[in-house]
Amino acid sequence: MKIVKCSWFPPKGYSAITLIWWLIVKEGYNVSERLITHETIHSKQQKEMLILPFFIWYGLEFLVRLIQYRNWHTAYRNISFEREAYANEGNKEYLSKRKLFSWIHYIKK
Ligand SMILES: [Zn+2]
Repeated sequence: MKIVKCSWFPPKGYSAITLIWWLIVKEGYNVSERLITHETIHSKQQKEMLILPFFIWYGLEFLVRLIQYRNWHTAYRNISFEREAYANEGNKEYLSKRKLFSWIHYIKK
């Protein structure tokens, strides 16, 4: 994954975002191994979903979670893609043994 530092993107309140094989990090933000593992999981999710459907699903599931939890941050943390990434960001080996579409198992927790 190619790390790109940017002063204005991602927008306020966010520190890093993955777009396929680029990891865009806000300037001054610490790029830890944990962050790279988290974002690499998102990169794998995006590729296996052929990019665009990933972002559509991500947006729709966020809206469903927002209705469910009525809280912006809790909704974001409970998107299945994020549940998978947060649950495994501390385990680097997860990246090599992860099966395709593993995020599906995180829809229902
Ligand atoms: Zn994430």
